Amino acid sequence: MSLESVIIVGGGMAGFTTAKELRSRGFDGQLAIVDPEGLPYDRPPLSKDYLLGNRSGDQILLSAAAWFEEQGVDVVTGRAVALRPDDGVVVLEDGRELAGDRIVLATGGAARRLDIPGGSLDSVLELRSRADADRLRGLLRPGIRLAIIGAGLIGAETASSALTLGADVTLIDPIDPPLVPAVGPELAGRLHRMHTDRGIGLVTGIPTAITVDDAGHHIVMDTGGTIDADLVLVGIGIVPETALAASAGLDIDNGTLVDEHQRTSHPRVYAVGDSSRTRRADGTLLRRAEHWEHAMNTGTTAAASLLGQDLPAHGASWFWSDRHGVHVEGVGSMVGEGSVVVRERDGVPLASFRLDPDGYMGGCAAIDGGLTVRAARRIIDRRILVDPAQLADPDIDLKKLAR
Ligand SMILES: Cc1cc2nc3c(=O)[nH]c(=O)nc-3n(C[C@H](O)[C@H](O)[C@H](O)COP(=O)(O)OP(=O)(O)OC[C@H]3O[C@@H](n4cnc5c(N)ncnc54)[C@H](O)[C@@H]3O)c2cc1C
Repeated sequence: MSLESVIIVGGGMAGFTTAKELRSRGFDGQLAIVDPEGLPYDRPPLSKDYLLGNRSGDQILLSAAAWFEEQGVDVVTGRAVALRPDDGVVVLEDGRELAGDRIVLATGGAARRLDIPGGSLDSVLELRSRADADRLRGLLRPGIRLAIIGAGLIGAETASSALTLGADVTLIDPIDPPLVPAVGPELAGRLHRMHTDRGIGLVTGIPTAITVDDAGHHIVMDTGGTIDADLVLVGIGIVPETALAASAGLDIDNGTLVDEHQRTSHPRVYAVGDSSRTRRADGTLLRRAEHWEHAMNTGTTAAASLLGQDLPAHGASWFWSDRHGVHVEGVGSMVGEGSVVVRERDGVPLASFRLDPDGYMGGCAAIDGGLTVRAARRIIDRRILVDPAQLADPDIDLKKLAR
């Protein structure tokens, strides 16, 4: 079938990149992005500069409105509620129907709800969309007691930003320290201690119920105690948005299943970003990624694939996070067999490297070590064998080892 029109459902990083790459790779047919939130915007600032008020709504747009006009990309403000993939039709909530030769699902994820009594109260906050960030920003003020359930990447970033805005913050997580799978135990410990060093209360435990009354919210803990707070934010990960894929009978398993070309189980439908999960040709399911660069990469792959072009090579996965004035990055995976080498200075861990049992690097994470992570990425992608003693030495520039 010729490719004359593409409908992208979801205008986050993955959907936007698909559109941008289709145009830059020469597609001149009809192109539409459907999203109830209108013009595509970037999510990482929502817990950082946007929440702090340092960047405006316009400043987090992925492109200005003029770009969409110039590129002939229609932004359709609306929510898709069903697909008829055999006809290439996307049905919107208001009854409109859009038809395309191909459909790309880029629906991202919804904040995971806390499955306990009170966990879904309207007053319990989440942070996934710009509206969520606006709501939280409107409530935050000096002295307000904010309890954040979940001290992962978004919980920790939001804690840092709320503290800067003067809130009295308590972070609750069942694990101490959290984030070990992302950055390894040493860096996770250092990052977690930064919270207490800056005056954030840390509570290790599992909330079992949330109640609300005139005095505020009360979080009942499995340890028996209760945490009182004016505001409660839940940051315990996301659930991939697969309702549309389900409506079309596509294969789903914690994400819409795609092959390495981002093709779903229906030949007219592709899926990208946080909502998609790769199933290899041999049936192996990869871990579903929930990072910005992965969203961008899958959009690029989908565009190349739709146009019948060679697929781009992306290399090891990468993420970043910012909190308390430090920048964290990770590449590859810190989870797996083998050994971990820690690079320290004066007893302070700066970077961790995971070496596979055969000695090749499988993952690296660093605090304020962007250049180290960039070199590690090259070492991982090119399978360069490096000496663990040199990895551990903070005076050796990793770039030299990556040559
Ligand atoms: C607060 C926050 C901070 C983050 N910080 C970082 C960071 O520092 N580093 C990092 O690597 N990653 C970070 N991330 C993760 C990163 O933003 C995501 O991985 C990325 O946004 C995923 O892009 P996506 O396009 O797949 O999904 P999304 O960005 O979730 O976009 C999906 C879009 O689909 C739309 N949609 C859903 N259902 C429908 C429907 N039925 N019809 C039409 N449209 C629909 C939604 O409205 C949404 O706009 C952060 C995420 C958040 C929320």
